[in-house]
Amino acid sequence: MLRIGCHLSSAKGFLAMGKDAVKIGANTFQFFTRNPRGGKAKELDLKDVAAYLEYAGENGIAQILAHAPYTLNACAKDAGLRTFAYETMRDDLDRLSHFPGAMYNFHPGSHVGQGAEAGIAAIADLLNRINEKESAVTILLETMSGKGTEIGRNFEELRQIIDRVEDTGRLGVCMDTCHVLDAGYDIVGHLEEVLEEFDAVVGQERLKAMHLNDSIYGLGSHKDRHGKIGEGKVGLDAFRAIVNHPKLRHLPFFLETPNDLEGYGREIALLKSVREEP
Ligand code: FE
Ligand code: FE
Ligand code: ZN
Repeated sequence: MLRIGCHLSSAKGFLAMGKDAVKIGANTFQFFTRNPRGGKAKELDLKDVAAYLEYAGENGIAQILAHAPYTLNACAKDAGLRTFAYETMRDDLDRLSHFPGAMYNFHPGSHVGQGAEAGIAAIADLLNRINEKESAVTILLETMSGKGTEIGRNFEELRQIIDRVEDTGRLGVCMDTCHVLDAGYDIVGHLEEVLEEFDAVVGQERLKAMHLNDSIYGLGSHKDRHGKIGEGKVGLDAFRAIVNHPKLRHLPFFLETPNDLEGYGREIALLKSVREEP
């Protein structure tokens, strides 16, 4: 069975997201833990959480993915912003403990001129402090397009972060198809080689989820402009190969394409139609 969903708005709560997911044929979804550009998260509504969990169980929704806000920068220059990053992640992980199997994806960070090495050290430092407390949530580093001073622009940078984290038992990677293509990995013409390289550098077992996005600008552009499935430089043939690939087909896939709910429903149906079941 294809495990697929899309990014949903969390404005109306968890039960509403669960219902939206079912409406469009999804069996998982991604959501922002708080305003993607803001700070404080609103109080968790435990009645909504309980209603969601019951609904999710009845409707086969499993292993949802939380996305950290963009304002979380583990390697910001300013110490106050790094503290904000720690406190935000800590709070997000505490909230996610209500959702069995949930994973937490974040952008490793932007080094804002301090250099990749200093950035990598700061990101690992945050993860080590997070690891001091017990958490059952798997944390995912997202592969980035390399725009600006983003860390995670190649597999080596992700490896360097992982190498500096003491307890990596709950640390994984989320591969974004738009970002890796923009970063210069040719998943269209050479998917096999890209996956081999990922395995050699990071390790296949670290790959826990994928973001399925087409890319407007494409290979090596470092632009990070998501396109609708089949309408960009990735193209439907590459998505067909990805959702059927033996190394990937078991993963949860999340759309972050420019769509409303109906549009997401159409893309989910499209991806299901190209999926080959044994
Ligand atoms: Fe992201
Ligand atoms: Fe993404
Ligand atoms: Zn992106």
